[in-house]
Amino acid sequence: MSSARICGVSVVDVRTGEVAPGQDIEIRDGLIASIGPAAATAATAATAAATPAAAPRARTAGSASDNGEAGGATWDGTGLWAVPGMMDAHCHLSNSARPDVVQSLTFDLPSFYSIRAVKHARDVLRAGITAIRDVGGIYFTDVAIRDAVLQGLIEGPRVRAGGPSIRMTGGHGDVRYSPSFSHSIFQPADGVDEVRKAARRNLKYGADVIKVLSGSGGVGSGTDLDSAQYSEAEIAAAVEVARDAGKKVAIHSHSSKATKRGVRAGVASVEHGTYLDREAVDMMAEAGTFLVPTFIALRRILEHGAGEGIPAIMVERAKEADEIHLKSFQLALAAGVRVAMGTDAGTPFNLHGENATEIALMAEAGMSPAAALRAATIETAELLDWSDSLGSLEVGKRADIVLFDVDPLADLAAYRDTRHVRLVLKDGAVCRDDLTR
Ligand SMILES: [Zn+2]
Repeated sequence: MSSARICGVSVVDVRTGEVAPGQDIEIRDGLIASIGPAAATAATAATAAATPAAAPRARTAGSASDNGEAGGATWDGTGLWAVPGMMDAHCHLSNSARPDVVQSLTFDLPSFYSIRAVKHARDVLRAGITAIRDVGGIYFTDVAIRDAVLQGLIEGPRVRAGGPSIRMTGGHGDVRYSPSFSHSIFQPADGVDEVRKAARRNLKYGADVIKVLSGSGGVGSGTDLDSAQYSEAEIAAAVEVARDAGKKVAIHSHSSKATKRGVRAGVASVEHGTYLDREAVDMMAEAGTFLVPTFIALRRILEHGAGEGIPAIMVERAKEADEIHLKSFQLALAAGVRVAMGTDAGTPFNLHGENATEIALMAEAGMSPAAALRAATIETAELLDWSDSLGSLEVGKRADIVLFDVDPLADLAAYRDTRHVRLVLKDGAVCRDDLTR
């Protein structure tokens, strides 16, 4: 049996947005065994730890080390805030964040995708993101990463994997090479039967979620952002296959038209949602469809611009989309649409490991800091079907815990600068410890 303890920490309740100061969190066998006022558990703490949790700030009485079991460790949490491991519902672990996406998609070897994803998985985990959903794992890299993490071969977050996204001919993800080339890194499918088959194929190779590129392309594509692609019947075919396997469908969708088709077809989440009208957000709220806004993807393109190698068309379109995206989000919030946190990490300058920045962006876009943190924890856990075991600091849940050295409900710098992350535990095991050294 392994055990560890964090003493005297301020615990953030992501459900209520309230903070309980001076709490002890006891971890046993990878689970949260107890949370309570420091005084109430002091007696047990004294016997459990060979050395008292006093100065220096953090003492380890056992064998705590990065990526090891936190056997017998005790951390002094004074002046620190504990939140659940954060989650990203939309990232692409195998994608580089290089400015010219198509270049990478075209020339990088499948094996290189995997090697890159291994590094990114570690970066993400060390930033306090303990669970992710990869919606579009080219070459099924995301499935491999998920399994390698589960087998203890590499360090990384828990992964819900999508495998290669399903796309239509001429749609988002169908890079328009010369007709003499037939290369596709996504899953081509046209018509109900082909979509069904593509979804089944992704499930066959281990997908946890089906990602359908149901709307017009990203800012890097030539198609109009405010248009639709897959028909409702095609999206519904993917939903049917996914549901039969107990899984969900996520759609890439910028427009209202594509979003409404997706909601009617029964998708679980709408990714991006740049051009949403009132009817679209009302339908989402009614159906309980999640919105995953991915603000950071556009924001990074605008921050870096064409001068740093991003294609000019992409920068132009990002400028166009930025303001309307904000309005759509605010419309969605007003309608009561559920929001999960996602970054699209892997798009230009959208670095793996900077995921939590999105929480700050959601707060600046109109959510309270508490609501933004809730979106990145318990709400994303709901979307990813992990809310029974993750997403909040509660007795009996997995001990995925992040300690900040600033109050994340008062200071958004917590999310913008990963140096504020001082400790990351996943299943009670130490993934990062900046307190002990
Ligand atoms: Zn994406």
